Amino acid sequence: MASGASANNVASANKAATNIQKVSVHGGHSGQFCHHAKDSLEDVIKAYIDQGFTWVGITEHMAPLSDAFRYPDEAEDQQSAAFLREQFFSYFDECQKLKNKYSDQIEIFSAFETETYEGAQAFVNHLVEELKPDYLVGSVHHVNSICIDYDEGHFRQAVTTTGSLEALYLDYFDAQFEMLQALEPAVVGHFDLIRKFDPDYLHTLQNKKIWQRVKRNLDFIARKNLILDFNLRGFDKASEQYPSMPVLKEALAMGIAVVPGDDSHGVASVGRNYDRGIEILRSLGASTDWPKPVLFNHT
Ligand SMILES: [Zn+2]
Ligand SMILES: [Zn+2]
Repeated sequence: MASGASANNVASANKAATNIQKVSVHGGHSGQFCHHAKDSLEDVIKAYIDQGFTWVGITEHMAPLSDAFRYPDEAEDQQSAAFLREQFFSYFDECQKLKNKYSDQIEIFSAFETETYEGAQAFVNHLVEELKPDYLVGSVHHVNSICIDYDEGHFRQAVTTTGSLEALYLDYFDAQFEMLQALEPAVVGHFDLIRKFDPDYLHTLQNKKIWQRVKRNLDFIARKNLILDFNLRGFDKASEQYPSMPVLKEALAMGIAVVPGDDSHGVASVGRNYDRGIEILRSLGASTDWPKPVLFNHT
């Protein structure tokens, strides 16, 4: 009887899981427009359609402000900031075209993922005016001008430049807070990305000063009704999603909307870790009735 009851529970859980819409607030990086991604944007969108996604925000990385802020692989390949800017503008054209082409199969939002460093905010505002994206994913990939997302070497360099691991976390969350206030992005990307190369992050996050900043930033997100990217890419490199469990629980307690972002960088990573992510959200009692990002009202 006990086993029958549990079989029923499993059956009803599976049934409920199939009713959950597949969406992504953050994804669609493609080899066509991003040096560290793969495949054409059209193939990536087709993969979303094949997997039954209802709606997807295509959120390519914004072009760098200058050569100094290129990702290391772009610099190595001698792609200039001017070239990357042109490529970014063609990304928008292509995204718009594909959005229309597949509009009867999937709802596409043409958006982009921001950078956060000196001068980036004014550049973001300029790009928003020029390109009229549907929304922004507000992300921080640099602290004190060093990319903390790229590899362990750059991360270590950022720790050394900033002075300590604690100082680096504090600067990360302060940069994020400034970005949140300046842009109020509809979606906040991989909230605690700073932990990517810190194996002891659960301990680091307990630091009082760091946790205070985490709560301050979440509080802003809650007050402005921004969406938190439940970033599934975290499973690949940092053992769990972004934001990590303690941050996620705090966000849910504050009533923040948490919505999956697969952060796909090619066909192979479309929708990956999706079921794993849903299971975690359901185990925490989080809503899986996903709100859409609030779109810009361009005039
Ligand atoms: Zn990327
Ligand atoms: Zn990112």
